[in-house]
Amino acid sequence: MSEYKFGTKAIHAGAHPDPSTGAIMTPIYQTSTYVQESPGVNKGYGYARGKNPTREALQENIAAIENGKHCVCFSSGVAATDAVLKLLKPGDEVITGDDLYGGTYRLFTKIYEKFGIRFHFIDLTNAENIHSVLNENTKLIWVETPTNPTMQIIDIVACAKISKATNLMLVVDNTFASPYLQNPLDLGADIVMHSATKYLGGHSDVVMGALITNSSELHEQLYFVLNSSGANPGPMDSFLVMRGIKTLHLRMERHCHNGRIIAEYLRNHPKIAKVYWPGFTDHPNHEIAKKQMRDFGGMISIVLKEGSIENTFKVASSFKVFSLAESLGGVESLINHPATMTHASIPKAERERVGVVDSLLRLSVGVEDVEDLIADLEQALN
Ligand SMILES: *Cc1c(COP(=O)(O)O)cnc(C)c1O
Repeated sequence: MSEYKFGTKAIHAGAHPDPSTGAIMTPIYQTSTYVQESPGVNKGYGYARGKNPTREALQENIAAIENGKHCVCFSSGVAATDAVLKLLKPGDEVITGDDLYGGTYRLFTKIYEKFGIRFHFIDLTNAENIHSVLNENTKLIWVETPTNPTMQIIDIVACAKISKATNLMLVVDNTFASPYLQNPLDLGADIVMHSATKYLGGHSDVVMGALITNSSELHEQLYFVLNSSGANPGPMDSFLVMRGIKTLHLRMERHCHNGRIIAEYLRNHPKIAKVYWPGFTDHPNHEIAKKQMRDFGGMISIVLKEGSIENTFKVASSFKVFSLAESLGGVESLINHPATMTHASIPKAERERVGVVDSLLRLSVGVEDVEDLIADLEQALN
């Protein structure tokens, strides 16, 4: 499908009419096993932890929209991250950013440190900082960009230059940008990770993860982990994500449109001290964002001028169209208080060092009519 543009791939990649009926939509193969003609003689499917046709259609689709050759899907984004970490062994070291998704931070520090893997959380907005912790045990660079929730942009090309020169694996969590805005494999990453729960699924009705790579060797290893550790997604969920992706390009256009209008409105609001959004020309990493992203998305963080936690909770609970909830990337607008919600698993001192203060709120701007979203923000802030 590589000859087609994004929207065409989103709709058609992996979607082959069902051979037995001609059904245009991929059937939900709700089965755990497959009947064999004689022992070992089957139609390519043995047991559904290993392979399921609905999941395979989705994997083909996600690989195509990320400009990758292979994709393996998992039961959640965290399970996908977990599978990458399982490629390592005790003594190995990982270099990663200091503003990470809370669940990724928790997995690294609370699960994998126990197994003897060491993590360096550094400021990756300057890729040269990698050299300060790099040593012969380093195996992996884990990048999340834009970062969550302070919307820093990390230069993927600069990280890839270092990872290639030093023979490391570069993994990019592309959840916030989505494949519509950013394709890290094209910029030199070895693996792209997605929480498909967010923009890919897009309707807040499913939890799933995905890993995409161009390397057949990495694909084989990751698939081995999937089958051996068993964090496989179900066929119904695979169908839902595939259905979601068919409108990813339409949704992202509106997320970006609404995001831009709301970011500019918030920036001029007297009750707001700071707005984090990579589309501002004076955002410290705006030039890199412009280089590696097609647009700037609908994720925006704000810091309130009146910084008490009581006032922040009052504002967060006053919305009528925005819903107070964890997660992001769905059609409906959400507001989230990272300090007590998505990032509660990160120690307070660590959090505040990177700007995740108690008065910070994160918006996932949905695809509603932007006038209604602005009116809702106006009444909640006042
Ligand atoms: C949600 C999220 C994850 C984890 O994905 P789940 O599907 O919730 O397990 C990882 N990274 C980022 C950036 C996320 O937003």
